[in-house]
Amino acid sequence: MYKTSLDIDQIRNDFPILHRKVNGQPLVYLDNAATSQTPLPVIDAIGDYYKHTNANIHRGVHALSQEATDQYEAARQKIQQHFNAAHAHEIILTSGTTHAINLVANGFASLLNQGDELIVSALEHHANIVPWQMLCERTGATLKVIPMTDAGILDMNAFSQLVNTRTKVVFVNHVSNALGIINPIEHIIEKAHAVGAAVLIDGAQATPHLVPDLQKLNADFYTTSAHKICGPTGIGMLYGKEKWLRKLPPYQGGGEMIDQVTFEKTTYADLPHKFEAGTPNIAGGVGFGAAIDYMNRIGFDAIAAHENDLLQHATEKLKQIEGLRIYGDVQNKVAVISFNVEGLHPYDIGTLLDKMGIAVRTGHHCCQPIMDFYQIPGTVRASFAFYNTHEELERFVTGVEKAVSMLR
Ligand SMILES: *Cc1c(COP(=O)(O)O)cnc(C)c1O
Repeated sequence: MYKTSLDIDQIRNDFPILHRKVNGQPLVYLDNAATSQTPLPVIDAIGDYYKHTNANIHRGVHALSQEATDQYEAARQKIQQHFNAAHAHEIILTSGTTHAINLVANGFASLLNQGDELIVSALEHHANIVPWQMLCERTGATLKVIPMTDAGILDMNAFSQLVNTRTKVVFVNHVSNALGIINPIEHIIEKAHAVGAAVLIDGAQATPHLVPDLQKLNADFYTTSAHKICGPTGIGMLYGKEKWLRKLPPYQGGGEMIDQVTFEKTTYADLPHKFEAGTPNIAGGVGFGAAIDYMNRIGFDAIAAHENDLLQHATEKLKQIEGLRIYGDVQNKVAVISFNVEGLHPYDIGTLLDKMGIAVRTGHHCCQPIMDFYQIPGTVRASFAFYNTHEELERFVTGVEKAVSMLR
């Protein structure tokens, strides 16, 4: 009954961590929405960089510096091609999604006026709320919220009412990390552009599962973090359309981002370096590129098919547990299942699962407004990756059943 085109055993050999034990039990890692595990080709790419190439980039005339620069810029091109951005200089390498969103929100401070409006969705990660609230405090702009329905779907009629010529920026995640729902971003981008607003899409939770075509999507900004896509922590990307990146002022000042510095005046480097002050995470960039290669070798179609199989099976089985409610149980979603069991605290379920070697996340998942909406302290969230197996799924479901019977 269970079919996949992936050779999961072979794939799992690339991930040493998946073979370790936790609390005496073989690890079942279902916290992929928080961070994915790192395969050997990525670990090796980072190790090889430090063993053979390590030098500062864009600075030295010596061979190592040039090799390091070439590898870092090759990673940028790989990222550009993977996401089909029009130019490599539209890819800014950041420390991750949080840094990328802060860079954009900070830049808009000089472009906004009192009375301007910003639109966020009810389904956002704190990383796509707080930087914009800080921007509102600085500029006097107001923040409007696209409401969600009980099913976890964004209310597009309400959005139509909110968007108007005062709207300057709209920021929404592609996929909700708390619920796994894929948001109707194409529609949002079109409506926002019709009034001249810029759109930022937080893609941190989408890119492990699908590949957005940035030119087709037509968002003005798109962000992600490498560590959600089998890459290392501390590196990510901000994609920005050239016209917007030229309009925004630099975020941080320092080395790398300048053209000429005197005490009277400094001029800035061209894109992308204008936004990349200081020595970047060079090894991380190399690892990011290796992660994209790795994912593409496996293939995103096969990844989606396998993950969707896991999602359908796990959803079906969990629903048979009495009193269990899944939040965001809709068709159009990735393999993230957020749930609670009536009368039980999510933390207690998570703690018992951990004792069985099963890693899930419990809590608000950096999305307190969603938890407030449902009037719950948090959920248990199981998030699957392509390297998870059917056996792991069975152990997880049995684990939840056991935890529930122990707590009841
Ligand atoms: C993980 C995540 C973030 C934050 O990413 P960082 O790597 O911590 O900067 C933001 N938004 C979503 C949807 C996420 O899943």
